Amino acid sequence: MNKLLSLIEKLETEHSLSLDEYVCLIENRTEESAQLLREKADKVRREIYGNTVFIRGLIEISNFCKNDCLYCGIRRSNKNCDRYRLTKEEILECCDEGYGLGFRTFVMQGGEDAFYSDELLCGIVSRIKEKYPDCAVTLSLGERSEESYRKLYEAGADRYLLRHETADSGHYAKLHPEKMSFETRMNCLKTLKKIGFQTGCGFMVGSPYQTTEMIAKDLKFIEEFKPDMCGIGPFVPHKDTPFANEKGGSAELTCYLLSIIRLIHPAVLLPSTTALGTIDGNGREKGILAGANVVMPNLSPTSVRKKYELYNNKLSDGNESAQSKANLAKRIESIGYRIVTDRGDIKK
Ligand code: SAH
Repeated sequence: MNKLLSLIEKLETEHSLSLDEYVCLIENRTEESAQLLREKADKVRREIYGNTVFIRGLIEISNFCKNDCLYCGIRRSNKNCDRYRLTKEEILECCDEGYGLGFRTFVMQGGEDAFYSDELLCGIVSRIKEKYPDCAVTLSLGERSEESYRKLYEAGADRYLLRHETADSGHYAKLHPEKMSFETRMNCLKTLKKIGFQTGCGFMVGSPYQTTEMIAKDLKFIEEFKPDMCGIGPFVPHKDTPFANEKGGSAELTCYLLSIIRLIHPAVLLPSTTALGTIDGNGREKGILAGANVVMPNLSPTSVRKKYELYNNKLSDGNESAQSKANLAKRIESIGYRIVTDRGDIKK
């Protein structure tokens, strides 16, 4: 424990560890080291954000995807996926409903679907911003060209989420078909940041072939890239993918890493993800207690919710639905935090 204690103290003051030190902190973790990390992560989060938790209304605009990521339930080769796409009008209706519920950030996420041209997306983004100038728009639509990202930014999009998935290029190649490239993904992230988006990266915990050394690389990448947001959640297998029989990631390690990331970047916007809530009934709460300060309830039309199935049993109703915000608020209050009606930008 002494060794771990000194690593945790070093992380708290220097916001950085070497790759070997990250490996040591992860491999030798104990309930005590997790507790200490949680306490320190919570302290720094409270210094910056108090006990507030930001909410985002997640609108899953399309499950058509040209990619074939081996882990993902909406991959192109999944013939059992019942495909849908939302129209501009449907997306705007989701925002109308979300605004009434107190959401001030709308996240549009989807597969890489060429149907959504720059023109169509820019029209949707600018209409949302025109109707709701006090709201932020986040996009999570995968890899696009620099020109496309620029147009979307100019149309008013504030933030972009693009998980790097893994910072190890060899590992990236095992999770993705040959056509997809690690370099392209990393370049997209750099471009997004350069353009001026509040940018989010992130990775899955416990994805197939992932080693502790690879997680250490993810943490190093997060240190260096300095994302505004960072989405991490456990890998959960999907029955119609090549990884159907692989083991899923754990809530315990996910929470441990949430605390570490909070200490690396005290102000980072860190969601307690749906995947974490899916594998553990109290996952959302555990994530917040570990240092997360964002939750993203589902605001998609109920008719399509089940169809955006990235992994088995993905939650989309109950506490995951935007409509249950009051209930979610209660659960969050019961652990000492509170949901706020706020754009929830990063505090710099
Ligand atoms: N097309 C967009 C959105 C992808 S879905 C993009 O490329 O960014 C959003 C995230 O869900 C992915 O980045 C991935 O990290 C996560 N995800 C996909 N399949 C998953 C699975 N089986 N288990 C856990 N997370 C998964």
